[in-house]
Amino acid sequence: MSEKGQTLVIQGIPISPGLAEGHIHVHRNLLGPIDGLDDITHNNSEEELSRLDAATASISGDLAVLATRVEKEIDSRLAEVFGAHQLILNDDLLRGELRREIIENMASASSAVKIVFLRWEKRFLLMESQIARDKGEDIRDISIRLRNALAGITVHPLDEIPHGCVLVTSRLLPSDTVFLADRSISAVLLEYGSIGSHAALFAREMGLPCISQLPNLLTTVPDGELALVDADTGIVTIRPQERQEVSFRKKVKSKKHAHQLSRERAQSPAVTEDDVTIAILANVGCSDDTEKAMLNGAEGVGLYRVELAYLGRAVPPDTDELLNEMQQTLEAAKGHTVCVRLLDIGADKPLPFMKFLAETNPSLGRRGIRLLREYPELLKAQLQAVLELAREFDVRVLIPMVTLPEDVAAVKECLTHLGLELQISSLPRLGAMIETPAAALSARQIAKHVDFLSFGTNDLTQYTFAADRDNAAVERYFNDAADVIFRLLRIAHDDAPEIPLSVCGELAGRPDYVSRLLQCGIRTLSVAPPLVPMIKEAVRDSSCTAPQIWKR
Ligand code: PEP
Ligand code: MG
Repeated sequence: MSEKGQTLVIQGIPISPGLAEGHIHVHRNLLGPIDGLDDITHNNSEEELSRLDAATASISGDLAVLATRVEKEIDSRLAEVFGAHQLILNDDLLRGELRREIIENMASASSAVKIVFLRWEKRFLLMESQIARDKGEDIRDISIRLRNALAGITVHPLDEIPHGCVLVTSRLLPSDTVFLADRSISAVLLEYGSIGSHAALFAREMGLPCISQLPNLLTTVPDGELALVDADTGIVTIRPQERQEVSFRKKVKSKKHAHQLSRERAQSPAVTEDDVTIAILANVGCSDDTEKAMLNGAEGVGLYRVELAYLGRAVPPDTDELLNEMQQTLEAAKGHTVCVRLLDIGADKPLPFMKFLAETNPSLGRRGIRLLREYPELLKAQLQAVLELAREFDVRVLIPMVTLPEDVAAVKECLTHLGLELQISSLPRLGAMIETPAAALSARQIAKHVDFLSFGTNDLTQYTFAADRDNAAVERYFNDAADVIFRLLRIAHDDAPEIPLSVCGELAGRPDYVSRLLQCGIRTLSVAPPLVPMIKEAVRDSSCTAPQIWKR
């Protein structure tokens, strides 16, 4: 943190973009009731057990209300977070531990909740994958709710927060974020919270600018002062000088204007300055995404992540269930190109019915196509569903986590065989995801088996830099816009100049790099639905002609 006279300038990591200003409201007690541990001296464990049951039932009811509210007001996918909270709350193992704590250790209901949930939270926080660590946050959220309910507190701590403020707090729990939607907070500054956390997801969906990883925030920022929050760059200016206020407001105005303009032109094609039309598609996971994408001017779906159809199930979906799910998800994009990516599970995306697949180094183990080749029934069900889908949609198939040319040859063989069986003469076009350096450097051999290549720059970066994409501790090693990544793209293009190239990783959604991507031979970009208008604008300001500097 640097201090300029009266003005403080701090920099953190933006986890939800946007510009906003407001007066700081420091919230120190977000972590819930400060309750010590107390034992039950009299033999009243029965009473404590029934208090716990009553609190659990009341929380369950609240969660159902929250889920409905979020579904209506924000996003149905986000509502699932509260469904997951219900599952945790009713988990037999957890309930058993709570009962034991009350009966055997004579703890009060509230103490039992505190002890057991803390134990569970620690277990999750020690796990390697970010998804598991985010679960730790969920556990903490439920623990606080339960203890509040046991203490008879019904008001949510965030209900006290003034409208329009810049909220400064240590961390945000998923249920806090929902309350923020009502309070019309202008921005949030956090000490902790990763870009992949549920809170970040909520904030992004609500368009709430949010900057995280600002250490010692609570003790250093002054309550009540004006703050200019630039969550595009991660810079916060507290007690700004007049000229800083003027220039910030100018920036806000021009961003609003640019946004308005891009929305007006979103339904028109994205044509570069040198007259090349670039296809702008969307990455989707559910029907809401597809609807949003089409309204925003997407020209189809460039990446349909099918994982949602597999999560929370005891057995994998069969062909009919998959087809049904695909039809529903893609309905809004009928008549346009839709690209179904085969199941990309393993590593940070585990499946309940594949628990047995424990590996010491899962990111380098059976992921994506590797797993599908090992379990051909999983592959077959998906390809059958895709072939059926192709009767109504303009479908493409994308193969995840390709490393070897034989990975794609195997899928092609299976697709051809099933096509014959189902008497489908024109097979969907097949694409390979380029997400490993080996695949980028084998583009020529891989291209012989497929119709297009799509760069998954998230994984490509993770595997090129050997840096976990979800691990904040190695964030400085994870740079998806580094020269080495563009170099890999360029090599693939030079080695296989005829094959159409697209990018569907996060890099495609960053306007500053669009020009450079086009100059590497990329002609299709697939981005998150809200980014479509902005990326189309970036294309219009770009040229496909590479300046000498980017050439090899
Ligand atoms: C990628 O790795 O860039 C990608 C698009 O796939 P996912 O983020 O789903 O792993
Ligand atoms: Mg990937």
